[in-house]
Amino acid sequence: MRIDILTLFPQMCDAVMSESIIGRAREKGKVEINFHQIRDFAINKHGQIDDTPYGGGAGMLMLAQPIYDCFEKVCNETGTRPHFIYMSPCGKTLTQERIKELSEYSNIAILCGRYEGVDQRVLDELVDEEISIGDYVVTGGELPAMILADGISRMLPGVLSAPEGFMGESHYSSLLEHPQYTKPPVWHGVEVPEVLTTGHHANIRKWQRERSIERTLERRPDLLENA
Ligand code: SAM
Repeated sequence: MRIDILTLFPQMCDAVMSESIIGRAREKGKVEINFHQIRDFAINKHGQIDDTPYGGGAGMLMLAQPIYDCFEKVCNETGTRPHFIYMSPCGKTLTQERIKELSEYSNIAILCGRYEGVDQRVLDELVDEEISIGDYVVTGGELPAMILADGISRMLPGVLSAPEGFMGESHYSSLLEHPQYTKPPVWHGVEVPEVLTTGHHANIRKWQRERSIERTLERRPDLLENA
C-alpha cells in the first residue's frame, strides 16, 4: 500500500513515521509513505500558501491552487488517483472499522490542513472523504494524519508480528481489551490474578473474555450494542 501525505510540515511527519513499528515496516517495504510539501506548489515567489478568508473572521485559510497542484503531482507520480482524505474536525469520526476498510485500498492520499482550514472549493473538487480524530480541535492536520496512517499501516500484512496482535485489541470486535500484567508476579503488594499464572489456556481465555466484557460495560456500554 502507498500513502501520500500533503502537508506544510513534511519533516515533522517523516520523523514520526520513521520510528518503531511503522519505521521498520517502511524500511521493509510493507508500506510506502511519502510526504509532499504543499509550499513547493505556491504560485507566487514568496511561497504564499494562505490568505485571509472572504467574509472576514480570524486567521488565514490555505489556498486552493497549491493543494490542487500538489495532489496532481501525487496522481502523476503514482499513476493513479488515490482515495483523497482531508483530516478535519468537520469529518466523520474515525473508527477501527473504517481503518480496517481503508487498509484494503492500494493508494491513499491525506491532506493536512493548517490555520483556520482550507478553501472549500478545492475540498469540493478533490476530496473523497473527511475524517475527524474526535470532537475537539488541534492546530494542524499532521497529528491526525499520523494517527490515520499509523492505524492503517499496522493492519497491513507483515507489519505486526502476528494478526492476533490486533484481533484481540480494543475496538477490533467492539470490545475493550482485558487488563494485562507482566513481571514481577507481585508489585507494590499487588499480585497478578492467579488464573493467569496457571497455564490453563481455556480458563485464561474465559477470564480475559469476562474482564473484557466487564470493562466495556463499565466504561463504554455504547460499544456493546455492536459486540
Ligand atoms: N477552523 C476549523 C474548524 O473550526 O473546523 C479548524 C481548523 S484547525 C485549527 C486546522 C487544521 O487542523 C484543520 O484544517 C484540520 O486539518 C486539522 N484538525 C484540527 N482538528 C482536527 C480533528 N479533530 N480531526 C482531524 N483534523 C483536525
